[in-house]
Parts: sequence; structure tokens; C-alpha cells
Amino acid sequence: MTATGFGTRGGVWADVVGQEAAVAQFRRAASPEGSLAQAWLVTGPPGSGRSTAARAFAATLQCEQGSGCGQCRACRTTLAGTHPDVTVVATDKLSIAKEEVRALVMTAQRSPATGRHRVLIVEDADRMTAGTFNVLLKSIEEPPPSTVWMLCAPSAEDLAPTIRSRCRLVSLSVPSSAVVAELLRRRDGVDEALAVRAARAAQGHIGLALRYATQQGALAAREESARTLLSLRGAGQAVLAAQTLVDRATAEAKEHADLVAAEEKERFLHSAGIEDGKVPPSLRSQMRQLEEDAKRRQTRLVRDVLDRYLLDAHSVLRDVLSRQLGTGSELVNIDVTSEIEQAAARGSGRITLGLLEAVQEARERISGNVPPLLAIEALLARVAVSLH
Ligand SMILES: [Zn+2]
Repeated sequence: MTATGFGTRGGVWADVVGQEAAVAQFRRAASPEGSLAQAWLVTGPPGSGRSTAARAFAATLQCEQGSGCGQCRACRTTLAGTHPDVTVVATDKLSIAKEEVRALVMTAQRSPATGRHRVLIVEDADRMTAGTFNVLLKSIEEPPPSTVWMLCAPSAEDLAPTIRSRCRLVSLSVPSSAVVAELLRRRDGVDEALAVRAARAAQGHIGLALRYATQQGALAAREESARTLLSLRGAGQAVLAAQTLVDRATAEAKEHADLVAAEEKERFLHSAGIEDGKVPPSLRSQMRQLEEDAKRRQTRLVRDVLDRYLLDAHSVLRDVLSRQLGTGSELVNIDVTSEIEQAAARGSGRITLGLLEAVQEARERISGNVPPLLAIEALLARVAVSLH
């Protein structure tokens, strides 16, 4: 692959990697001969590039050359998130509020100001609640002629059948680690060896791979967790390790949530023209709402971070299983190869399979609102007795 950076030969699709079929489908639809559906559902696992693909498609629709050249003003502003006719809804919250969707539906009714289309991208459409789907439904059924909806979600099943049956479906797959490594190298200038390690550890999650490659200590922390998992002995150690994991996830989530909350507060005070920090009574309920949102966001983030740990644990156990079964496939966790081989020799494939199921169970319990500490303690206690 040659270097086709932003704005050159690759155009707006340059950073949509490992998704040839999906890109071809979008390009066909945007071509003059293609039939342009007005509602799209882009599915794919987290980190596969759903929103990058949706933005690239929006840019192709707005492009002054009609090709997604990546160079014209329409392409550049769409990718930068500043095109007046492209609205992107991204949320850190647990759910997308009905009012937000209502506002979006209003926007969808307006004809484009400068571009040829009005494009609405909902990044986490799976976070809309059932009542919200109904608000959206009418607009998706009969949108104005120049409006295009793009809903993104992990899978089609995440949306109400009434919504998904009205959308043209595009499915993204998990990009290979080779493709992700190449993207990190080309787009982000990451050194090749580091790009390969980070991409493999992230298992096809592009954003995570970038974090591993650029955030000091992130890869090391992941290795450390893998080592801890494989060396657990006894329930006491399991309880301690679970507490450490949850504490670390909480700290990580809080750091991020605090930053976002401070920015939001700043914006709110600024837009209300408050300079001394004193919120008048008439605005206090709005302010409280903002704080509650921030709290919910932090809860969600803790769960997201823990889910990532559990996915890491899953990959470590899968590596153990692959050694036990002698599949000869490449390990994900190459930095802890010797620990993986020792654990493989101690246990059996059947035990490891049971543990892999236990990890999935813990993920489901946490997403089903079981206190994370309880779910993780139970899992690690089982790992501790099973692997020794
Ligand atoms: Zn263009």
C-alpha cells in the first residue's frame, strides 16, 4: 500500500480500512448511476470504523466533484465536522434523550443550506430508547428528498425492527491487525514495530490500537493485567485483584468524565452569560441536569473500561486455549507468551473453555447492572482455582 494520506489519492475513503465491500457499496450508491437510499444502517463491532465510514459517505455525497475527492471544501469540512449540512450526534451518555432526537428530526426537515444533501449521522443509534425510535420513525419513513439518515450501531438487532426494516444495511467487519497497523503507521506516524504490537493487542479495534500506540504505559498496563490474570492463586488474591481492577477503571473513567463535565459546565455558564460562577435560581435545574448527566456518563465509562479489561482477559484465555489445542495460530498477547504457555501446560482445553464462557457471563452481568466488583470477583475467583 502506498501512502495515500488525507486529501490525496485515497480521498475521503483513505482511512476506512479493511472494509472493501462496504466502501464499494457506498461508492456505488453515491455514483450518478446508483440509487441513493435515504436511510442507512451501518453496523460493525466497536472500533471497526462505523462513524469514520459514515462521515466518508457524507463527504462523498457533499463533494463538489461528486467523488469524495478529499480536497474540496465540502469534503474537508464534512470530515472536520464543520459542514453546515452534516449533523453528527455522538454521545457518552447511557441513552440518547428523546428531546435530542426531536431536535434532530427538526433539522432533518430543513433543506440543505449549501450542500446537495442534508446528512444526519447518529453514531450510537443503539442508545436510543424505545420511545425515541417512534420519534425517529416518521422522519425515516418519509424524509424530505435531500435528507439522508445514517444510523450506526454494533448490530442490526440493536435497533427496533420498524427502524431497521426501513434502512439500507451496510455491515463492517473487524479489520485485520495488519490493516490496522498499516493505518497507524500511515495516518498517525506510529513506528512500525509499535504499530504491530498495538494493533494486535487491540484486536481490530482501531481507536484502542491508537491509544495503545500513543498513550504512555497503556500497553504495559495491559500486559500487567494479563500477567496478573495468569498468576492468580486462591480466592484472597482474586478479591484483591478484582478490587484493583475496579479502582483503576473508576479512576480512568473519572479522569475522562471530569474533563468532559468541566468543559460542559464552562460552555453552559458561557452561553448563559455567567461570569462569576453564580448560577441564578432560574438556571439551577438545568445545571443540576448537567451534573446528573455527568454522573451517569461516569457510570457508563466505568463499565466500558471494565468491559475492555474483560475483552483483554478473554483474549489471554483464548491464547491459552489455542496453545492447548495446538492450533498454531499467532498469539494476541505476544508479550506474555511464556506465561500463556505455562498456563496451557497446567490446565486443559475444557477448563479454559469454561473460563472463556465465564468471561462472557461476567460481561453480560455487568451490562445487566450487576455491581461490577461482584461480577469480576466471581470471575477471578474461578480463574484462580481453575488455572492451578
Ligand atoms: Zn470533494
